[in-house]
Parts: sequence; C-alpha cells; structure tokens
Amino acid sequence: MKKKEQHNNSNHSNKKNPLTKNQIEHYRDTLIQLKMQIMKNVDSLENDNLNSNKESSGDLSSYSLHMADMGTDTYDKELAMNVAGNEQDILYQIDQALDRINKGTYGICEMHQDFIPTSRLNAIPWTSYCKEAQEKIEKDGRKG
Ligand SMILES: [Zn+2]
Repeated sequence: MKKKEQHNNSNHSNKKNPLTKNQIEHYRDTLIQLKMQIMKNVDSLENDNLNSNKESSGDLSSYSLHMADMGTDTYDKELAMNVAGNEQDILYQIDQALDRINKGTYGICEMHQDFIPTSRLNAIPWTSYCKEAQEKIEKDGRKG
C-alpha cells in the first residue's frame, strides 16, 4: 500500500485575511464583552417586565397602577420589549461574528467577499458587510 505523502495544507483560497491573529483576538474579546453586557441589559429588562405587577419601589407603584387603567403601562412594556428585541438582534449578529472568527472568515464582507476596513470593525465589530454593502442593503430596504 502506498501512502499519500501530501502535505495537507489547505491553500484553497488565495485571499489572505489582512487581520492579524492579535487583531482577531481583540475583536473576539470585544464581541464577548459586548455580548455579556447586552445579555445583562436584556435580563434586567425582562425582569422589569416580570416584576412590574409585583411592586415598584415607593410611591411610583400607586402611580403606575392608575396609569395601567389608562393603558400606559402596556405602552411601557412594549417599549421595553422593543429595546430587548433590538438587543436580541445584535446578540444574534455577535454570535454570527464569533462564528466567523472560528471559521476564519471574520472581517470579510458577505456581499463582495472583500475585506471590511478595521475602522469599520472598530465601530461595529459584529458587522458582516462593508460600508458600501450596508448602504446598498439599507437603500434597497427603504424601497417599496
Ligand atoms: Zn463589500
């Protein structure tokens, strides 16, 4: 039996990610910290919702009871849910970004397969699109 003596280097792509290992580690740290921060926020928002019927602190509870008759309480709840919704969305995107870090595709624009500049990654570390792609999506989204 002949053994294949091929080096299993997977040179499948000629595109090399310009991010250094250190940079990627830095973004991973940032993403994980953001994730924990948002999870805390979402937690406290959800607890607020659950506890709002029990007791608020001090005089506010009687106030909110009266306001509940007028439907204002419902409005507050919906507002809190909306904020939680957005944060869930960001959480999802952060998870996706962490996944891309694991796969080695972090920092690559999903629309053009080009590299997202670090200035953009610094601002939105979970983004999967370069600025042009993002603008195109927003433009298309606004249509209709
Ligand atoms: Zn792009």
